[in-house]
Amino acid sequence: MQVTQHSIDKLAWEKMSGLLPAIVQNAVSGKVLMQGYMNKEALLATLDTGHVTFFSRSKARIWTKGESSGNTLNLQSVSADCDLDSLLVLANPVGPTCHTGAESCWFDGEQSDMTFIADLETLIAVRKGADPDSSYTASLYAKGIKRIAQKVGEEGVETALAATVKDIDELKNEAADLLYHLTVLLQASDLNLSDVVSILRERHK
Ligand code: AMP
Ligand code: ZN
Ligand code: ZN
Ligand code: ZN
Repeated sequence: MQVTQHSIDKLAWEKMSGLLPAIVQNAVSGKVLMQGYMNKEALLATLDTGHVTFFSRSKARIWTKGESSGNTLNLQSVSADCDLDSLLVLANPVGPTCHTGAESCWFDGEQSDMTFIADLETLIAVRKGADPDSSYTASLYAKGIKRIAQKVGEEGVETALAATVKDIDELKNEAADLLYHLTVLLQASDLNLSDVVSILRERHK
């Protein structure tokens, strides 16, 4: 259930003694960033300000993530689970979320492989402005959309051929090439993978 200022009182505050666990997930990559607790005041502050705010049990006060470090979490949405006693917060982080300076409070590389594709896409997007001599991705952008589109065509054919001759190693490698070049092509057209996933989601309904 989506949580708004109006639905706050439906949550299981009494059962949870006023404190609900809140799991913060990167709204784009799906990476789990941190976990904290929210009381009603923290949840209201989160919804009012758009900055994820917790109740710190150690500090025994309301704590807006990033209040001293500047590494805030910009709210996208809050939802409650099936029995309304746990919160899932989707947010866009400004800087690293963990106090150690890491992106997430869980160790690098220990989350689902699916979160990696979003990280790769971000890197590919950042390369748009880069010196063509400094990176293969930047050199692709510099060659222009036709050349990138041609690469996607080639990698698509190579992927199809590998599958046809049942060369599984080759299929994995060519599919990786295809996915990479397709991501570059989308970025060169100012599109994100999530724009494509939205279409797939729409069709799934
Ligand atoms: P910040 O909210 O980023 O300004 O950090 C202020 C203080 O909150 C830090 O010194 C830590 O004690 C604590 N803190 C910051 N980030 C986290 C986190 N992800 N999980 C738990 N505690 C944190
Ligand atoms: Zn629950
Ligand atoms: Zn941490
Ligand atoms: Zn290839």
